[in-house]
Amino acid sequence: MTLLETSGRRAMHSGLTPEKLLLSARGIRKSYRKGPAEVPVLRGVDLQVYQGELLAIIGQSGSGKSTLLHVLGTLDAPDEGEIHFDGQRIDRMAPLLQDSFRNQRLGMIFQFYHLLPELTTLENVLAPLMIRDSVWRYWRNRRRYRAEAERLLEMVGLGHRLKHRPRELSGGEMQRAAIARALIARPELLLADEPTGNLDRNTGGEIMRLLRSLNEHENLTIVMVTHDQSIAAAADRIVRLADGRIAA
Ligand code: ADP
Ligand code: MG
Repeated sequence: MTLLETSGRRAMHSGLTPEKLLLSARGIRKSYRKGPAEVPVLRGVDLQVYQGELLAIIGQSGSGKSTLLHVLGTLDAPDEGEIHFDGQRIDRMAPLLQDSFRNQRLGMIFQFYHLLPELTTLENVLAPLMIRDSVWRYWRNRRRYRAEAERLLEMVGLGHRLKHRPRELSGGEMQRAAIARALIARPELLLADEPTGNLDRNTGGEIMRLLRSLNEHENLTIVMVTHDQSIAAAADRIVRLADGRIAA
């Protein structure tokens, strides 16, 4: 049994339940301007993500994985192509609608965690709700929110670190806190950009097992990008990003 093997990998493609398309990207193109030159990064990406799956996108450094994940998560706009989430086109929404779509339905984690250094673990997890809600709404719901944040922190194994600040946590603990924060608004899809990229092998394996368990027990669809084949091996399905396109 390797570190990344998990028990009971779900028979996603057994055909017992019809697969529901959650996210679909078609013909995605994106270039960056470098001086006078346009440097194409995504050159017609087609990708389908089904509800309930853990999908890994692998590709070499510089192949455009982060760019693709940002575009899928509406943090960046494609030059061409369309992205649909649960049947709704999301790449051309008005900015305010796009913000609330992202806050309500997507969670994101990154290689470097991006926790706020002045806040405790618990406060970091609550931060998205503070940003989302009016002061009045947050105040009315604060006990429920706090209980939910504590439940999530227990679930990711950080129940004993509620009052710690990021600098007092290990890398693995910081990623666990970032995962709890990503889940506080109950997203349907988690986008993970090299979530184990800054962790040693054992700790990376633990984070992968946590993501696997959230996928299986919390009905969370996950799209993860990584350059690490052994990390990707824990996914239901692996696709490769190369030359700006997805090669199955
Ligand atoms: P990966 O995550 O697979 O390492 P990225 O999506 O970060 O790849 O980057 C893909 C390519 O696009 C790289 O060549 C990178 O230098 C370039 N790139 C990424 N972001 C920008 C940017 N904001 N401006 C210009 N070039 C960028
Ligand atoms: Mg990257």
